[in-house]
Amino acid sequence: MKEIIVIIGGGIAGLEAASQLLKLGYSPIIVEKSDHLGGHVSRWNKLFPDMTPAQDLLSELIMSSKDANIFLNTAISSMNRLKDSYNIMLSNGISIITKYILITTGFRLFDASKKEEYGYGVYDQVITNADLEHWFNNGNDGRIDNSQMNAIGFVHCVGSRDEKARNTQCSKVCCITAIKQAIELKERFPDAQIYCFYMDLRLFGKKFEDFYIKAQKDFGIHFIRGRVSEVSENIEGKVIVKAEDTLAGKPIKVTLDLLVLMSGMVCNPDSTRTAGMMALPIDSDGFLKSSDNVFHITSSPKQGIYYAGACTGPKTVPETLAEARSAVLEIHSHIIGKE
Ligand SMILES: Cc1cc2nc3c(=O)[nH]c(=O)nc-3n(C[C@H](O)[C@H](O)[C@H](O)COP(=O)(O)OP(=O)(O)OC[C@H]3O[C@@H](n4cnc5c(N)ncnc54)[C@H](O)[C@@H]3O)c2cc1C
Ligand code: SF4
Repeated sequence: MKEIIVIIGGGIAGLEAASQLLKLGYSPIIVEKSDHLGGHVSRWNKLFPDMTPAQDLLSELIMSSKDANIFLNTAISSMNRLKDSYNIMLSNGISIITKYILITTGFRLFDASKKEEYGYGVYDQVITNADLEHWFNNGNDGRIDNSQMNAIGFVHCVGSRDEKARNTQCSKVCCITAIKQAIELKERFPDAQIYCFYMDLRLFGKKFEDFYIKAQKDFGIHFIRGRVSEVSENIEGKVIVKAEDTLAGKPIKVTLDLLVLMSGMVCNPDSTRTAGMMALPIDSDGFLKSSDNVFHITSSPKQGIYYAGACTGPKTVPETLAEARSAVLEIHSHIIGKE
């Protein structure tokens, strides 16, 4: 009989893992709590660094994992350790016995309304990076007025690198996402002035620096180093942003038609809940704790339980896909007794 492997989470990590497991002759089962596959990427439009349409990636992943057993709208009700396997009870009443579980429950976007000073949920023209991606996808957001786009701002590090937000970690993807989105907005609104308010620019990935150079040289996007000190709204409904330009050493005040908050990646509470069922440890950054963060990032401390993707920390798409393949190889090695 083919070995059954349960994948919890049908985002890109779960889909890529299922696709690789199928190629190796296993029977993956994907348990996805929402009504669709693809996780966060299903809401994104174009992916850095190559501006690949997110839908192209998703279609390929969904096609290559279609022979997996997929349960949508399904949660994990309980998980129990048996002698050398696990009994997983699903919310649809199905019980599965398996020796291998791959957790791919991903991340949650920081709730920008918790940073009250930025006015998300209070001022109409304040949106998040995820809202903007969604708008790029479907053009449907009452807060974005196409006819009035003279000035746009981006605030970096919203809910990341911030002790008050209880997250001192860098979310890794939001500097490059801000630059990508700023370029995309400038392409749509060539006359608009665009400002990125940042503390540090962290552009660690392949070709990320090219985006930064292009944003300045070809699109004239303004990068202002300094924390935003105040966001308010004027009588015409425009957003007023005050900040300290720490490089020029002077205060700055701009009037904007749209302010985009770069919400960070934080641990998905569903990951924590799922981990709690098996007494799996949580790391100091709030994400699931791998056996170690150098050599065994896709292994949990419990035999037969593995991780892939953003459930262990902020990851890009290529990093997530690479981890999914790596976790599959670890499971395969264990099954054939080569580990
Ligand atoms: C605004 C923004 C833009 C981005 N743009 C890019 C980009 O252009 N290029 C790039 O490389 N990266 C980008 N990223 C990063 C990218 O989104 C992540 O790398 C990717 O989403 C990680 O995939 P994942 O499968 O690990 O997690 P997720 O996408 O979070 O998917 C997890 C899945 O698990 C499900 N799930 C969660 N808990 C449970 C549970 N208990 N039971 C069952 N199912 C569960 C969820 O419903 C979801 O479907 C961006 C990130 C942000 C925040
Ligand atoms: S990637 Fe940039 S915006 Fe995101 S937390 Fe790190 S420094 Fe801040």
